[in-house]
Amino acid sequence: MIALVPVRAGEPAAGYEEAVVDCGGRAIVAGEGAREAAGLVAEAGFGGEGIRFAELGPFAPGSWAERLGALLSAEAAGGAAGTIVLPGSPDGRDLAPRLAFVLRRPYVGAALEVSERSAVVVRRGGRQNVRLRLGGPFVATLLPRPRRRHRAAPGAVTGSSGSRRSPAPTGPEACQVPEVGPGGVSDPVRLELLEEEPSAVDLTEAERVLCGGGGLGGEDEFALLGRVGSLLGAAVGGTRVVTDAGLLPPDRQIGTTGASIRPRCYVALGISGAAQHLGGVSADRVVAVNLDPSCPMMSVADLALVTDAPALLRELDARLASGTEACER
Ligand SMILES: Cc1cc2nc3c(=O)[nH]c(=O)nc-3n(C[C@H](O)[C@H](O)[C@H](O)COP(=O)(O)OP(=O)(O)OC[C@H]3O[C@@H](n4cnc5c(N)ncnc54)[C@H](O)[C@@H]3O)c2cc1C
Repeated sequence: MIALVPVRAGEPAAGYEEAVVDCGGRAIVAGEGAREAAGLVAEAGFGGEGIRFAELGPFAPGSWAERLGALLSAEAAGGAAGTIVLPGSPDGRDLAPRLAFVLRRPYVGAALEVSERSAVVVRRGGRQNVRLRLGGPFVATLLPRPRRRHRAAPGAVTGSSGSRRSPAPTGPEACQVPEVGPGGVSDPVRLELLEEEPSAVDLTEAERVLCGGGGLGGEDEFALLGRVGSLLGAAVGGTRVVTDAGLLPPDRQIGTTGASIRPRCYVALGISGAAQHLGGVSADRVVAVNLDPSCPMMSVADLALVTDAPALLRELDARLASGTEACER
């Protein structure tokens, strides 16, 4: 298997670590600033030997798929490229199906686990994990897994303490990506650039997440949660109780059967902290607001506030709004 890591401005796509680890440290890091990003990937503990890079310019999933498809087809003919795994980031999700089309391979989206001939995906409304057996190599996107330490791939070079990694002895090697003429895969066309709405940012990419649970209240409180999220520049999410009740759309659900998040700060308002919810949360800092001091969410919190969550949210909104008005005056 080989990981394909899309890059923008030298930054590898979020969730690349799982893809590279699962491919045993074999990866092509491709995009704008790929050389620099490949160096970062190698220094992150994946070694330099299996990591290659392809400078492709600004993100263009159609033409990248054509060019990378030509490269990977040539390698597949030589027996080198098997199943191709991309991170389940927005760019990974744009590129993977196009690449599958170019390579005439099956595509598996949002896999929990990938091996050379099979993939595990969630089905039946999140209630069942199913192993799909593919007849040959395929293209997949891999969901980031929460609370998992990334093991360095075999061959990775680590420092004597084991915690600090030394640079790879040989730097990542450049791939010779063939130039190809325009094919049948188009690039997206930008019609309009809408202003960013912070609370609607992709949960898997968000640095701050404001999450509401069954204890937060009803429609009014969730409308307020969106407003406070926008004022704080935080993405808004909810528990399954909340999405099942239609208070937030299903794609805002956080947990084992929803989005896996890795923000710097996660604020839980009226959330009990069930294993299925916490299984999707890996945050640097957790703030929990709950009336029950002994619930599991409070025990994992860095800051636990025993208070009424809707009242706290209203107070936060009032203070943020008056602060914004004062700034505007
Ligand atoms: C197969 C399966 C998959 C699942 N997947 C997911 C998943 O992906 N994500 C997910 O979230 N859940 C998932 N669940 C559901 C999960 O088990 C829990 O039921 C759910 O997370 C509980 O949500 P909650 O904490 O919002 O609600 P509750 O468990 O009802 O908790 C409400 C909390 O709010 C507190 N509270 C009440 N009033 C107030 C107040 N005024 N102020 C402050 N606090 C207050 C209570 O003390 C309580 O702790 C799954 C379940 C199953 C069986």
